[in-house]
Amino acid sequence: MNLNFGKIEISKYHSSSQIARVKTESWVANNMYCPRCGNLHINHFENNRPVADFYCPNCKNEFELKSKTGSLDKKINDGAYTTMIERITSNQNPDFFFMNYSKETQCVKDFILIPKHFFVPDIIEKRKPLAETARRAGWIGCNILISKIPEQGRVHIIQNGKINDMQSVLQKVNKGKLLEVGDLKSRGWLMDILNCINNIPTEIFSLTTMYAFTDYLSSKHPQNNNVQAKIRQQLQLLRDLGFIEFLGKGQYQKLQ
Ligand SMILES: [Zn+2]
Repeated sequence: MNLNFGKIEISKYHSSSQIARVKTESWVANNMYCPRCGNLHINHFENNRPVADFYCPNCKNEFELKSKTGSLDKKINDGAYTTMIERITSNQNPDFFFMNYSKETQCVKDFILIPKHFFVPDIIEKRKPLAETARRAGWIGCNILISKIPEQGRVHIIQNGKINDMQSVLQKVNKGKLLEVGDLKSRGWLMDILNCINNIPTEIFSLTTMYAFTDYLSSKHPQNNNVQAKIRQQLQLLRDLGFIEFLGKGQYQKLQ
């Protein structure tokens, strides 16, 4: 894997966004392996497909690329808000690659995989409609709030200019597969509980600590009248999946 974009024929392209797209997509096609199955390359879809940009010829998984210059800690710009929500609610999203690159050095600095099953409507932020003077007046775009995706769903392939080992990437993707929940409501609960656990600074925590999130979770799930029972149920699920361990007496431990 080479972090540099390399020499790419761009004379055909005029707008800076087109050039950026060509450079970042060629980089992925030339350098990226499939983080799902470990196949050594992935292919670019020939035509501009509305949904995905790349696919793995081995496991057939599909990927979409979003790039920016700047940190991937908070959010990244995406297309139309309603389209994105529809894609999530109908489970038609591909996996996403998020790239941060440097304009100066023409190198990839960060590259993250977010598997599709970590997407919930909650991480999609509605942008302000375009002004009346804009060509597409009234059009509403969205941001993907990367910071709201639980750490378990953010797989760093390149981090701060450093390439992570492929085996550890595949391992993390495989572990994350255990958290795959088709039903969107259940997925939302699982993501929320994971985020709560991830926010607890210690490795060992208690049920009481988890109950401190009751008000926060109630506000996110107003239809649920028994949030604490839901918390216990989700903890049990995460225990069964091997993400936490029950130590007894209302104590839990996070597992790596
Ligand atoms: Zn694959």
